[in-house]
Amino acid sequence: VMIHLRSPLEIELIRKSALLVNDAIAEAAKMLKPGITTMQVDAMLEQYILDHGALPSFKNYQNSYPYASCISVNDAVVHGFPTNVPLKEGDIVSVDAGAFLNGYHGDSAYTFIIGTTTDEVKKLFRITNESLYKGIEKAVHGNRVGDIAYAIQEYTEKQHGYGVVRELVGHGVGRKLHEEPQVPNYGKRGNGPKLKEGTVIAIEPMINLGVKEVYHAEDGWTILTQDGKPSAHYEHNVCVKRGKADILSSFAAIEAAEKANPHLDASYY
Ligand code: MG
Ligand code: MG
Repeated sequence: VMIHLRSPLEIELIRKSALLVNDAIAEAAKMLKPGITTMQVDAMLEQYILDHGALPSFKNYQNSYPYASCISVNDAVVHGFPTNVPLKEGDIVSVDAGAFLNGYHGDSAYTFIIGTTTDEVKKLFRITNESLYKGIEKAVHGNRVGDIAYAIQEYTEKQHGYGVVRELVGHGVGRKLHEEPQVPNYGKRGNGPKLKEGTVIAIEPMINLGVKEVYHAEDGWTILTQDGKPSAHYEHNVCVKRGKADILSSFAAIEAAEKANPHLDASYY
C-alpha cells in the first residue's frame, strides 16, 4: 500500500484546492431552492471552479464521468448524475465536488434540505455530520484507519441504528483524486494501515436512514438505497497530525450560506 506523506507545502496546496471546492459548494447553497435543477447547480459549480483557475476533478473521471459534480437527491447516496428534474420541497440534496489546482485535488461534500423535512431525517443529518468529526478525531499519528472507521460506525450504526454504506469508502487525496489508503466508515479498532503525520485523507460518512444496502442505477454511476429511504453524506479533507488532525477543508462558508438561504432547512444542527 503506497501511502503518501505530504510536505508542508503540498499540504497547503491541498488545503487551497479543498477550500476552493467548499467555496463552490457554498455558491450552490446560495442557489438551492424549489424549482432549480441539479443540472443548473452543476453548471454553476463547473464554471466557478474553472473561473478560479482549477479543473473540476470529477469531469471525465476514469474517462467516463460526464459532469463536474455528483448531486445525489433523496434515496441517491452518492455519485448522482445532475438532472433536469426541478428540486422540490422536502428534497435531500448531497452536493459533492472536486477541484484540481496546482497539481493537487480537493474533494468535499455536503448535504442540504430543500424547504423542510421530518425530525427523523433532520436527526440523520445531525448524526451523520457529527460522525464525520468523530472520525476526524481519530485521524492522528499512530492510530490506524480502522480507528476512524470504528468511530463512525459505532456512532451511526450501533448508537443510532442507521445503515452504514459498505460499498463506498473515503480515501487518500492529493496528486490523484483517489489514493491509498481506503478509509471505510465501518471497521475494527486497531485494524488497517497505520496513520502517519502528513497523510491526507478524505473522510466521508455515507449514512442511510434505513438499511445499509445500496444498488447501482442504470446510468452506471448513481448509488441508491435499497429501501428507497434517504441518505446523508458529508466529506472533509484531513491531514493526519500528531495530537490533533488538521481539517484542510471548511464548512464555514457553506454553513453560513445554508443558514442565510430561506429555502434551506438548517435547523438540524
Ligand atoms: Mg471523496
Ligand atoms: Mg467527494
